[in-house]
Amino acid sequence: MSATPDQIIRPEILSLSAYHVQPANRMVKLDAMENPFNLPQSLRNEIAQLTAEAPLNRYPDASASHLKDRLREALDIPPGMDILLGNGSDEIIQIIALAVAKPGAVLLSVEPAFVMFRMIATFAGMSYAGVPLKDDFTLDLDEMLDAISQHQPALIFLAYPNNPTGNLFDDASILQILDAAPGLVVIDEAYHAFADASLIDRLAQYPNLLLMRTLSKLGLAGLRLGLLIGRPEWLTQLEKLRLPYNVGVATQLIAEKVLQHIDILLQQASSIKAERAVLVRALQAMVGVEVFPTDANFILIRTADAGQVFQGLKQRGVLIKNLDGSHPLLKNCLRVTVGTSDENMQFLAALQASIKQPIN
Ligand SMILES: *Cc1c(COP(=O)(O)O)cnc(C)c1O
Repeated sequence: MSATPDQIIRPEILSLSAYHVQPANRMVKLDAMENPFNLPQSLRNEIAQLTAEAPLNRYPDASASHLKDRLREALDIPPGMDILLGNGSDEIIQIIALAVAKPGAVLLSVEPAFVMFRMIATFAGMSYAGVPLKDDFTLDLDEMLDAISQHQPALIFLAYPNNPTGNLFDDASILQILDAAPGLVVIDEAYHAFADASLIDRLAQYPNLLLMRTLSKLGLAGLRLGLLIGRPEWLTQLEKLRLPYNVGVATQLIAEKVLQHIDILLQQASSIKAERAVLVRALQAMVGVEVFPTDANFILIRTADAGQVFQGLKQRGVLIKNLDGSHPLLKNCLRVTVGTSDENMQFLAALQASIKQPIN
């Protein structure tokens, strides 16, 4: 008799639901924190040429040394710090979790946070502890310090700015967490391009700090490239878990090329920030919409009957993210990614209509 999946697969995997990606069809897609702008035609032509000549029959450079050099320049990596590359930063979260997952080891984060922190803890066989944020989504430092002393986490993940709430946590509180933590603290700066703050300059001061970035939210989500920045002592160990060819030939070539024009991506980020300000003001002026502060390329809002409003938006061709039901603090919350000014106008019109008349 052959075994069935529920006899063989780990029970915690059986009870997981897979990460859900909504089909976008032809809708205005404002659900996934993507940069709405494409690269200039001239740069796209250069990329076409590069990929035409790429040695796709060969394995990629396993150390990706040219790409790392470009990243150092473009992202101002502090001297003395190493870089580890991932197939998106999701993969880096997994590498770190696998490395520290001794029996009983705990991964600690806040709630609500990026869902992959919890999911990957489960993949790696770690225990997960989530400390609720306050009602206004700020960090509850006392609760965090209590949880640290109770669980002695091997690993703490904090996104700065946080997803799905969009805010930056108080940096003095983060430093206190770094002081109290018995293990690693990873600051996930996926939304760095849209915030005017970073903890990268703290790497030298805190031996247990690692910092994560990604090119995804900056405009290259399709390329899949994330990076971890930290001390060689840590990264040498983590490198052992990185699968040798996790960053492909095309990703390396294209990222190197685009990073030489990082000013284009930063210019786009600055346009997105300007559009964000316009969108925030329009949402604040709307009756029945509560708007939360954001330092990211998305905005968290609360409406009455968010589920109905979400469906109403969908019927009007606009896809955002419905967070109602995902955590008690996110009751009736919706998350919208900042798009082009046209897309944002369509969203605002559809939102106004959906609040007045949820379903056609
Ligand atoms: C989107 C996101 C990531 C994942 O980025 P990839 O590099 O595309 O895997 C990581 N952390 C946070 C907080 C995110 O919102």
